[in-house]
Amino acid sequence: MRISFFGAAGEVTGSCTLVETGDVRFLVDCGMFQGGREARSKNLRALNFGFDVRDIDFVLLTHAHIDHSGLLPRLGVLGFRGPIYATPASIDLLEVLLLDSAHIQEKESEWQLRHQHRRGKNGVGIQPPLYTVIEAQSSLGLLRPVNYGETIHPAENINVRFHDAGHILGSSWLEVTLGGEGRPRKLVFSGDLGMRKRPVLNDPEKVIPEADVLLIESTYGDRLHRPMPETEDEIVAAIGRTNACHGNLIIPSFAVGRTQEIIYILADLVRRERLAPLKVYVDSPMANAATRITLAHPALLDSETRDLLEWMEAHPNKMKVEFVADVEGSRALNQVRSGAIIISASGMCDAGRIKYHLRENLPRSECSVLIAGFQASGSLGRRLVDGTRLVHIFGEPVPVRARIYTVGGLSAHADQAELINWLRGLHSPPRHTFVVHGEAAASSTFAQALDEQLGWKNVRLPHQGESVEI
Ligand SMILES: [Zn+2]
Repeated sequence: MRISFFGAAGEVTGSCTLVETGDVRFLVDCGMFQGGREARSKNLRALNFGFDVRDIDFVLLTHAHIDHSGLLPRLGVLGFRGPIYATPASIDLLEVLLLDSAHIQEKESEWQLRHQHRRGKNGVGIQPPLYTVIEAQSSLGLLRPVNYGETIHPAENINVRFHDAGHILGSSWLEVTLGGEGRPRKLVFSGDLGMRKRPVLNDPEKVIPEADVLLIESTYGDRLHRPMPETEDEIVAAIGRTNACHGNLIIPSFAVGRTQEIIYILADLVRRERLAPLKVYVDSPMANAATRITLAHPALLDSETRDLLEWMEAHPNKMKVEFVADVEGSRALNQVRSGAIIISASGMCDAGRIKYHLRENLPRSECSVLIAGFQASGSLGRRLVDGTRLVHIFGEPVPVRARIYTVGGLSAHADQAELINWLRGLHSPPRHTFVVHGEAAASSTFAQALDEQLGWKNVRLPHQGESVEI
């Protein structure tokens, strides 16, 4: 068997692993590289991947995040016709996320073309989109739904089972069994793992007791998250201060996962009477769609969330959530001077309707901004966290007088302790462990922790493009 790492090796994006065994070849995830200047050139390098996509028999998708799924349509463009297996909730989210990704790419190319024409150039060298909306749409036709716990047989002597990873709606870790001659071999792909005891989703399902090969993510392999009560105190403080000053509270948020988590936390704080009744606006078409998809899969929500949803239905005046549909509604919300709590995307403040809300509210000292997610270096959100007093939005200077709150306890990824805790479910060290999906420092610290805390010696940090025979 040969395993090749085409992404998320020494970094957190571009997840794509090729497994070749006998005459079967399959991919686990096919994600886009994101963030940083190099992402674009890496995605372009992936234009032809490092293999012939027509040789791939099938794809297994752990979850819908673009850094795991964003190059799936590219496979279709290059001639891949095989099935892509994913959970039903992932498929629902992909319909939104992949079409949006294609739309953004088309707009970007159009913008470049216009820009060149204005400068008298003829468009030579303009990079076309990796895929168009139509191509993304046709790749959706390759998706095949698989429920948690169901065993599928995508090829002779290969069985695959999807398990709940508790990371985002529909996220999975994968158990792959290779049969054939001799003892069957077990492969475990962690995908992205969530934290236990967090709102909205179920906890990650326990790992199987024996594995021959393990690929484990390590996004936060070098750190521990802050406890949830601290996060709640910070949110209560931000709302109290903003109300006392008669300002607005703006919450930049990732559309999938984080928005639903914040709604849960706010409603729960109202239910526990730590906050007075609230009205919250969700102003992001994608967050609205993701929330609708989340509510359409009640069986995937944990029991606390189902209880809370019942409470919200029974107490419609305690926690009102208004989803802003059109641009007019969004513009009207820009004019509100006080008392509004607005959750909007994008989570790092670089795109989407959040930019309008920030432009209106950042210059006002009575307003607050609550940063509740990861902010990559170079993003507008990161500059706010770093305390910049002047930012530029739509090319215009905007002074930052609003109070910036940063809450650190919300993360869709397990921290080091939770990753180790999950791996304690394995009764013996896997014969081969690969630490993936982490910045180099996080991955190597995590590999060290595996040695120190679990006594695992055979742990490797694969690099981009590396192939390993096992
Ligand atoms: Zn993810």
